[in-house]
Amino acid sequence: MGSCRVTVVGAGYVGLTSATCLARLGHRVVCVDNDTAKVASLCEGRVPFYEPDLDKLLREGLASERLRVTTALPEAVRDADLVLLCVPTPMGDDGGADLGAVRTVLAKMRTSLPSGCVVVTKSTVPVGTSHRIRELLRRPDVSVASNPEFLREGTAVRDFFSPDRIVIGVDDPHARDRLSELYEAIPAPRVWTDPVSAELTKYAANAMLALRVSYANVLAELCEKVGADIRDVIEAMGYDERIGPAFLRPGPGWGGSCLPKDAHELVRAAASVGVDAGMVREALAINDRQARRVVARTRRLATGSADGSLRGVRVGLLGLAFKAGTDDLRDSPALTVARLLGEDGADLTAYDPGVRAERADVVPAVVVDDPYRVAKGASVLVVLTEWPEFQHLDWGRLADLMVRPVVLDTRNHLPADDVRAAGLEWHGLGIG
Ligand code: NAD
Repeated sequence: MGSCRVTVVGAGYVGLTSATCLARLGHRVVCVDNDTAKVASLCEGRVPFYEPDLDKLLREGLASERLRVTTALPEAVRDADLVLLCVPTPMGDDGGADLGAVRTVLAKMRTSLPSGCVVVTKSTVPVGTSHRIRELLRRPDVSVASNPEFLREGTAVRDFFSPDRIVIGVDDPHARDRLSELYEAIPAPRVWTDPVSAELTKYAANAMLALRVSYANVLAELCEKVGADIRDVIEAMGYDERIGPAFLRPGPGWGGSCLPKDAHELVRAAASVGVDAGMVREALAINDRQARRVVARTRRLATGSADGSLRGVRVGLLGLAFKAGTDDLRDSPALTVARLLGEDGADLTAYDPGVRAERADVVPAVVVDDPYRVAKGASVLVVLTEWPEFQHLDWGRLADLMVRPVVLDTRNHLPADDVRAAGLEWHGLGIG
């Protein structure tokens, strides 16, 4: 059983997952957030966002009294052995990471940290932030470490307990001992390194994933031109163990709350020290182009012409989240496509199993709670998120509801033969 006293600051996907899972491992955990409504909900055992298994772990943690949730930041760190920073680091105006929340938290807790405590950044922070944190804290009796988080939304709890690796950047033995203790029960390879290397690893890994998807999207475009089938090409590539199959599928573009901001930050950080991360810049440019390619294909399919107007044309969107298994809409490529279609005058209706309510603040479409309502009167259906349930829709029924029974499957996700057998035209990406 764990025996650390841990304070987790930020109760989002990373923070709440870390807090509840660490409590499950036996540590005594206080989770702090400055969102009072969120904290009130968490104290009642309700997680106000969708992440499998988190509700159960939260209730279990609260019941065992190994987990407490609060808004009171200075008090929450008074007895801490470790403080894990899990606050947002969104993209700032210059494309780099905005460290405003990290600074706020440091300023609030600086003088309350007990001597010997270890401040650990799990948030994705620019290379060199650990040094900066040390300067801001002005507490030589407090250690600073970097422990970037790699969990994926939708499988966050599983990823916490069985990560591919744990990366820890420390430069003093005390911090190393504390972090060894914290993760003792988790069987995973450890990479012990210095804080700068740990910070860079997170950006390096996310940019690599972005490069792979952009590469798949370029290959898909090429396949369409030369009459090849991307599904076979990537399957064949993926068997090569030097390449592997993951993150090599075409789609509407990569997105989510991490990949775009981290790719931008890597480009910015590299430029600031005179290194040209041109390949990452190119991956970003390909990603922008991809959303426009999806819109051009939609226009052609809905109107029969590359220059046809979408004004008043009904387009149904299946999927809004940036990937299946989450309700997270941050930087979703589906929303980029929706925004561009809306700017072209399309009349948009959308369905996503994880986004049941109208989100007029971010979704430029009428959100309905039934996929068949999306098809009603539509000239084309565009599949933007790879939810498994879309594979089992009654495609004959959908076809009957549409003005033109056409599907653009940007994830090559549907059973194409079944969809065609039900009377629809099925179009994927990268199929020449
Ligand atoms: P999130 O938005 O889900 O959660 C952040 C939480 O921090 C929110 O509840 C917010 O209210 C709280 N917060 C903001 N400012 C605060 C403050 N001053 N004091 C206390 N609480 C505050 O964010 P997230 O997705 O969990 O991401 C957090 C960090 O982890 C980011 O740096 C992100 O890049 C990184 N990360 C995210 C993922 C992911 O899949 N979401 C994966 C790996 C790393």
